[in-house]
Amino acid sequence: MRVLITPEQIQQRIDEVARDIAKSYQGQSITIVGVLTGCIVFLADLIRRLDLPLKIALVQASSYRGKATTAGTLHIQDDLLPELKGRHILLIDDILDTGTTMKHMVGHLQTLGVASVRTAVLLHKRERQQVAIEPDFVGFNIPNEFVVGYGLDYDDEYRNLPYIGILDAPDAS
Ligand code: 5GP
Ligand code: MG
Repeated sequence: MRVLITPEQIQQRIDEVARDIAKSYQGQSITIVGVLTGCIVFLADLIRRLDLPLKIALVQASSYRGKATTAGTLHIQDDLLPELKGRHILLIDDILDTGTTMKHMVGHLQTLGVASVRTAVLLHKRERQQVAIEPDFVGFNIPNEFVVGYGLDYDDEYRNLPYIGILDAPDAS
């Protein structure tokens, strides 16, 4: 395991991102929609720095990774979502990789009659992106490596690491 982003760097950058978000909403009430499970650590740290009236909602998205990954394989489980009609939504995910998850989630939220949707991701792997979507708020641009920690998993492990690390497992992605 190699450390890519330290806990201190993460916290410092989230301070900045939170300031940008608060500034862009200017006191407006928002609903943060977190994409489970990877979002949880980022979401927990971010919301405590957001000086805005906000509600929190969660949704699960799962896609098949590797060779089988196509736009059609994403499954959205939104039983946990409250009524979002007319709300300003900030969609939060751990990482934007191919962009499939974010693109589909934004499309799905728009069918629910929301007032607006913006997106925030902790990590963005620009090199891997295949779907056209530009996240509104980005923590870090990272190289094309499989990362774990700070919410991100490999086989559901490593989410509790306080840093972002590169896992040296050849079959990881
Ligand atoms: P996308 O739909 O943008 O291709 O992929 C987004 C999802 O794939 C993320 O929410 C995350 O669950 C997973 N993912 C993509 N890249 C990585 C990575 O480097 N590490 C981990 N742990 N998950 C990743
Ligand atoms: Mg995910």
